[in-house]
Amino acid sequence: MIKKFIRKILGVKDERDPTQPVILGPEEHRIDPKLLSPNAVRVTQALQEAGFKAFVVGGAVRDLLLGVKPKDFDIATDATPEEVKKLFRRAFIIGRRFQIVHVMFGQELLEVTTFRGNAAVNAPKDEHGRVLRDNNFGPQHEDAERRDFTINAMYYDPATQSVLDYHGGIEDIRDKVLRIIGQPEARYREDPVRMLRVVRFAAKLQFTIEPATRAPIPVMAPLINNVPAARVFDEMLKLLQSGHSLACLKELRAAGLHHGLLPLLDVVLEQPIGMKFVTLALESTDARVKAGKGVSAGFLFASLLWHQVLEKWNAYRAAGESPIPALHLAADDVLDNQTDSLALQRRIATDMRDIWAMQPRFERRTGKAPYKLLEHPRFRAGFDFLLLRCESGELDAELGNWWATFYGADANERERLINSAREPQGGDKKKRPRRRGPRKTGEGDAVAAPSQESE
Ligand code: ATP
Ligand code: MG
Repeated sequence: MIKKFIRKILGVKDERDPTQPVILGPEEHRIDPKLLSPNAVRVTQALQEAGFKAFVVGGAVRDLLLGVKPKDFDIATDATPEEVKKLFRRAFIIGRRFQIVHVMFGQELLEVTTFRGNAAVNAPKDEHGRVLRDNNFGPQHEDAERRDFTINAMYYDPATQSVLDYHGGIEDIRDKVLRIIGQPEARYREDPVRMLRVVRFAAKLQFTIEPATRAPIPVMAPLINNVPAARVFDEMLKLLQSGHSLACLKELRAAGLHHGLLPLLDVVLEQPIGMKFVTLALESTDARVKAGKGVSAGFLFASLLWHQVLEKWNAYRAAGESPIPALHLAADDVLDNQTDSLALQRRIATDMRDIWAMQPRFERRTGKAPYKLLEHPRFRAGFDFLLLRCESGELDAELGNWWATFYGADANERERLINSAREPQGGDKKKRPRRRGPRKTGEGDAVAAPSQESE
């Protein structure tokens, strides 16, 4: 009692038994059961009826406590993957590093994970201390301990409506604090991606980063270089698609995480010329996410890297290359450079190239060309991209407006628009740069004067 009193005066946190959770009832946590997915309740109930423990866990509990409807539900249980699979009609064991079960109900996918043991101490690691495999089961308190942040390590039982909190997550939710579980340096060393997660959650939730959680990041940032590129890419994509991408990028910078880490970020954050374009692109991305619309990774990365492409495109043209081949060469250079470090999947790289390659075609507004462009399967993305270029001041707004009208017009009006576009296009022709190299027939016809004048 006295010890507790002295600790309280000194402001020392009570050392809780980490194997025993604090349990909160509905009056304390005030989770609105209506925010729960009925299927998540179905899964926990089925597991519990079969004699297992089962909880909603992680990000979903965090969101429920914040009064936000979770976008997906993860379930944690002491049943093994095989035991889980047997209980559901549409359940699939997915396993790479660690086996989990995907349970499907219609369109909804629930991820069911067996409690993981905290064997990080003995787990195989790389020479920098990064854990390579930790695929053993364990008791619930160890599962809590190996999660990343206190606010991500709570369990909710829909049957009893109770929240189990092993690491003071409830207080941190109340105080809006992001705190890593355990010793920060050790946790970042085990998995450097956690540093990117700090940034993402702080920006997304508008939480402050607890000082000890933040302190080691600038020093430990280079460890991210040892993480497989595909994982870094996944986390970056989550960051950019979080609906708070601009805030995330600012936070990356504030945390000292942007430098020399990802070539992409260096480009984006340190190139003032592209900043207007990138800012507009990310603002529109964030707005789309907040409106519940999808954001294609291709469009996102095409935007982030556009100014690099533009620079190289101009350089190739200045060296005598005709516009369209010059654009393809520029795209090759930029994609080659990024593919190694970012593990851009081929599908994404293809989308990026399509969006870029469409751009000169928007400058051709005569004959059949505009109709052909409308039929391009990725027209919408290319058009949105064109609008960003106009909005950032790279191109004349008139071009974007013309396409917007053309896109929404009926057949007669389209014909009229094409006829009225003929005049200024004819004038444009005179402004074309003189070609230095030999000209292949037809090639380059599609491209009007380079539109860099406004830069
Ligand atoms: P979001 O709402 O963005 O999906 P989330 O918290 O659900 O947030 P996920 O990446 O889906 O994030 O991870 C689910 C849970 O798994 C987390 O809440 C956390 O408990 C745990 N987790 C995920 N990644 C890590 C990691 N790198 N280290 C430790 N625990 C992790
Ligand atoms: Mg999640």
